[in-house]
Amino acid sequence: MASDKYTTETITSVRVWTPKLFSVRTTRHPDYRFTPGQFARLGLRRADAQAKDGSGWSTVWRAYSMASGRDESELEFYSIVVPGGEFSTEFARLGVGDSVLVDTTAYGFLTTDRFQTGQPDGHDLWLISTGTGLAPFVSILLDPKTWTDYQRLIVVHSVHAAQELVYREEIEKLASGPLYQRGGAQLLYLPVVTGTALPGVLGARIGQLLETGQLEAAAVPLDLQRSRIMLCGNPDMVSSSRKLLAARGFTTSRRNAPGQLAVENYW
Ligand SMILES: Cc1cc2nc3c(=O)[nH]c(=O)nc-3n(C[C@H](O)[C@H](O)[C@H](O)COP(=O)(O)OP(=O)(O)OC[C@H]3O[C@@H](n4cnc5c(N)ncnc54)[C@H](O)[C@@H]3O)c2cc1C
Repeated sequence: MASDKYTTETITSVRVWTPKLFSVRTTRHPDYRFTPGQFARLGLRRADAQAKDGSGWSTVWRAYSMASGRDESELEFYSIVVPGGEFSTEFARLGVGDSVLVDTTAYGFLTTDRFQTGQPDGHDLWLISTGTGLAPFVSILLDPKTWTDYQRLIVVHSVHAAQELVYREEIEKLASGPLYQRGGAQLLYLPVVTGTALPGVLGARIGQLLETGQLEAAAVPLDLQRSRIMLCGNPDMVSSSRKLLAARGFTTSRRNAPGQLAVENYW
């Protein structure tokens, strides 16, 4: 199917993490460009007798963060299955060889260039997510520039159950891999599991961990000069964390008013 608004890509592999979580890799059009942290608009075609154009088909579109590196030859997406969800239940049914439409433009501002102000950058990059909100941070962690721009990368991934700590192995491997060897940043991976108490694992909601100082105690203190913070995922986590951080002077980074925060809500 040809269009200048989207390309038709093919699924090359599917990784099922749990019955509700999966990752999909697709072909990538050679002209598709994105900055790590951005999201694609994905479309799924389905038979629709009511289609307004009389074609018998309609397309459901949803935003999905890229979980693959800037220069990889394929795209990767990490998805939840929302019970009854129009897009995600259909996405979960697809397999190798099936088609996904990808809008030709990549969107979003959850990118580390938000923090480049002409001043020396902060030294610590905090990547704080809930659930599938980890996806853009995987892409950011695969970018060599992240490892040279920062001295510390602190990845906080909050989930309900330990088996939802997807990408854990991949992230932990990065801590001593080639990107680390070239760039030198120290990576700290902090899993948070809220559904069951696990020894040695943080177990409260991110807002509470921020409020009580537990998150900083497990990593390094937050500091207006040193820290740059990205928040992604559940809107409750994003708004409660943002409020707590605002009370300590952290502000959202904007083109004409550089700050320390960048956020993205998934719904
Ligand atoms: C900028 C942006 C980037 C996104 N990136 C991703 C991504 O990388 N991976 C991904 O799985 N989703 C992502 N989403 C959410 C995604 O667009 C869809 O909402 C999701 O796939 C569910 O689609 P649906 O049609 O099945 O249900 P929808 O009708 O879209 O959503 C129904 C309800 O499901 C819940 N929900 C939606 N998305 C999630 C989620 N990710 N985790 C938990 N609960 C959710 C919310 O309560 C929502 O109201 C992103 C959303 C935005 C705005």
